[in-house]
Amino acid sequence: MVSLGVVSTEPRRDRDCLFCRIVAGEVPADVVGQDERVMAFRDVTPQAPVHVLVVPREHHADVATLAVADPDALVALVRMGSQIAQDEVGGQFRLVFNSGPDAGQSVYHVHGHVLGGRSLTWPPG
Ligand code: AMP
Repeated sequence: MVSLGVVSTEPRRDRDCLFCRIVAGEVPADVVGQDERVMAFRDVTPQAPVHVLVVPREHHADVATLAVADPDALVALVRMGSQIAQDEVGGQFRLVFNSGPDAGQSVYHVHGHVLGGRSLTWPPG
C-alpha cells in the first residue's frame, strides 16, 4: 500500500506540556482572550499588575521555532497581547519571550509575557 501526502489534521500537541493542557481545558486557567490561533491567560505568579501569557494553541517550543513554523500565529500572539494591554493598561506594555534556560524559560511551549500597569525598569535582571 502506497500512501501519498496523508496530512494529519490533528493540532500539534505535546501531552506532557502544561500549556497544551491549559489550551485543551484540562488544567484550569484565568483566560482573558482567545481566537482560533492563540489563547491568553493570567500568569499564576504575576510580576506586574497586568501579567498575561499569550500562547499559540499549537505546540511550538520557543518564539524562534514559531516564527519559522507558523508566522501567522506569531502575529496573532502579538496582536492579542497588544489588545489586552490596550484594554487593561492603556497600551503601554512590555512583551517578553524568554527563550532557553539562560534567558529564564521554564515552560517549553512558546509564550509571550505581557507585562504592564507599573513602571518597568531596564535592564531586566
Ligand atoms: P517562563 O519562565 O518564561 O518559561 O515563563 C513561564 C511562566 O508560566 C511563569 O511566569 C510562571 O509563573 C507561569 N506559569 C506556570 N504555571 C502556570 C499556570 N498553571 N498558569 C499560569 N501561569 C503559569
